[in-house]
Amino acid sequence: MARERIRLLIKGVVQGVGFRPFVYQLAQRHDVAGFVLNTGEGVVVEAEGELKDLERFRHALKPEAPPRAVIESISPRIMHVQGDAGFVIQPSLAQPDEFQLVSPDIATCDDCAAEVFDPADRRWRYPFTNCTNCGPRFTIIEDMPYDRPQTTMKKFEMCADCKAEYDNPNNRRFHAQPNACPVCGPKLTFVAKSGEPRVKEEALAAAVEMLQAGKIVALKGLGGFQLACDASNDAAVKRLRERKHRYGKPLAVMTETIEDAAEICFINDAERDLLSSAERPIVLLRRRPKDAVAPSVAPGNNYIGIMLPYTPLHHLLLRDTGLPLVMTSGNLSEEPIAAENAEGLRRLDHVADGWLLHDRDIYSRYDDPVLRIVAGHRVMIRRARGYAPYPVHLPFKAKKAVLAVGGELKSTFCLLKEGYGFVSQHIGDMENVETFEHFERTLELYKRLFRISPEVVACDMHPEYFSSKFARDLKAPILVEVQHHHAHVVSCAVENGWRDQVIGVAFDGTGYGTDGTIWGGEFLLADWAGFDRVAHLKQVRLPGGEAAVEKPYRTALAYLISVYGDAYADLGLDFLSRLDPVETEILERQVATGLLSPFTSSAGRFFDAVSSLIGVRDTIEFEGQAAIELEMQSDEAEHGRYEYGYLTASGQPSVIDTDPVIKGIVNDLLNCLPVAVIGAKFHATVADIIVATCGRVRAETGVRTVALSGGVFQNATLYARVIKDLRKQEFRLLLHKELPVNDGGISLGQAVVAHTLAT
Ligand code: ZN
Ligand code: ZN
Ligand code: FE
Repeated sequence: MARERIRLLIKGVVQGVGFRPFVYQLAQRHDVAGFVLNTGEGVVVEAEGELKDLERFRHALKPEAPPRAVIESISPRIMHVQGDAGFVIQPSLAQPDEFQLVSPDIATCDDCAAEVFDPADRRWRYPFTNCTNCGPRFTIIEDMPYDRPQTTMKKFEMCADCKAEYDNPNNRRFHAQPNACPVCGPKLTFVAKSGEPRVKEEALAAAVEMLQAGKIVALKGLGGFQLACDASNDAAVKRLRERKHRYGKPLAVMTETIEDAAEICFINDAERDLLSSAERPIVLLRRRPKDAVAPSVAPGNNYIGIMLPYTPLHHLLLRDTGLPLVMTSGNLSEEPIAAENAEGLRRLDHVADGWLLHDRDIYSRYDDPVLRIVAGHRVMIRRARGYAPYPVHLPFKAKKAVLAVGGELKSTFCLLKEGYGFVSQHIGDMENVETFEHFERTLELYKRLFRISPEVVACDMHPEYFSSKFARDLKAPILVEVQHHHAHVVSCAVENGWRDQVIGVAFDGTGYGTDGTIWGGEFLLADWAGFDRVAHLKQVRLPGGEAAVEKPYRTALAYLISVYGDAYADLGLDFLSRLDPVETEILERQVATGLLSPFTSSAGRFFDAVSSLIGVRDTIEFEGQAAIELEMQSDEAEHGRYEYGYLTASGQPSVIDTDPVIKGIVNDLLNCLPVAVIGAKFHATVADIIVATCGRVRAETGVRTVALSGGVFQNATLYARVIKDLRKQEFRLLLHKELPVNDGGISLGQAVVAHTLAT
């Protein structure tokens, strides 16, 4: 029979995932000759053989690909027959101008975990065991194509055994770039404030001993340092909080197995899948009434963040200690995670009792990702290790390369190129100098890896955001300032491949509005190019401006004054007895004159105000705390709600009158209704407001697609109810998928708005 030859260019995540050995084995199986090689843009295969064999070979590529490969496209081309005898793997070919997708880090696979716990295996108890299906990737890559000399593994020379695995196409470690073993690979060291440093097994044993004794260990993980302590030891957890200056905010817990996790939390199928996925994220799970976790791990919270071990080092620590371990980013609050040994020792000097270090450098910092499942939907809260830098697929081809610098808190940036939106991992809060350096460094890395030089730059309209100042200083030929909530809504639409107009519901804490006031309870009729603000929550003064964010009682007072005027003082509310009279007088004056007290329509502040008014929380220790505790204390069985109304003037956005809500709550307080009931009625009312307002906009415009975005939707009670009720009313719903609903998701929207306006 006649022979034929084809050339295939395969694009996607196809390097660092065992793709070439897979192609090699497939070629053997189907009696196909030719070669496979890595290039700067993907994998190239030339295959020669009888037509039926070639067809079978080609059609098996996608369905049989290795588990961590993502094939985006296969472009075939007919070639002249060359008469190759066998199939070979050729050396990689660098193409300086081409780019390709990069694999995120992958949790230890079952095969590697089994080796680590097999006393007969040469990698028994080796904390850096990995293979082509698992291990570090993005955190160690300095440049592409992905080959060992371009990673931080370059300083470790493989021993004969490792090299033999690396060179054998039938081995699980064929071309596994971070391949290592106890003979040739990275090693553990343990140091403490006193005593000699220990290495290898002794280092691990020292860390285990310390953890069991209730001490705090800083361990160098995959994307940076983590701080660990015994999660069942309340004194240990409290000490960690004190030293890290992290009060109140829930801490994540790592358990050895899913069964251990199930003793702490309720886990449904979707949550189980997520917990044990190769990304191994922190998943927020509902706690059991009595769990073995210390009260100080997640005070006042019915949910707890759980994750499973994702490196061999974690597996060993969890098994050897036999404890659930608090596992939190190795930083002081709001600083980026520490990554290098010296940095970890210096910055965590007052936090840790001991340091479990190793000599494999971390090139790129990564926090642990955080997700939850709400009404069957995956809600991304922090997109980090395991997810970035896998891009969002755009429903268009970018004509110009765009950089969007994101917001201020929970910052990410986004680069558009061709059909991709590369959204960075969670970077952090930009007010912090160290975070800002992390931002710049990560941006340089993404630009280099994906060969992007932005022609258009996008930023938030806010005059004072550090990210916006950075963007303006770049002096790009085209700079586009994008309104915060417009970015939220467009980001959600683009993630869903949606181009047309939507009713965008953007409910969050703060965003700079086009009128210079603070927005945050917004209904926008929007597309990629622009928007109309069609409705918003009624504005109140924010006494003292942003300082009110940490002091919800200030916003509560502003609401009372807005509804009752001076008469508020005669209401006889408990809330008033908690206020300081001197401060109250100042706040009253600020509300009356507007001095340093901008107007806001923020939904986040509305939740804060109610939380404080009904006595749940007057001041906060971390962002969103007042609203979270309000949600936690609300009784799901309660079905009542409050009145609300609309104030409309022609040519103006509809204003949602929240006065009746506040009056209803005050009435219930005076009638001594419990917090659980008031909180539940409040949640139901906000959901009603969203659904009814979308209904009004639909009636006026005919638009029936709704995009939901903004940090307020991290509230599972509200989000689930709004999703359910909008569906019932037959709206088409667009929800965030890969990106966070909070400000970590806005960079994509900024980039697409800028691209739309600039091309
Ligand atoms: Zn593996
Ligand atoms: Zn070795
Ligand atoms: Fe926002």
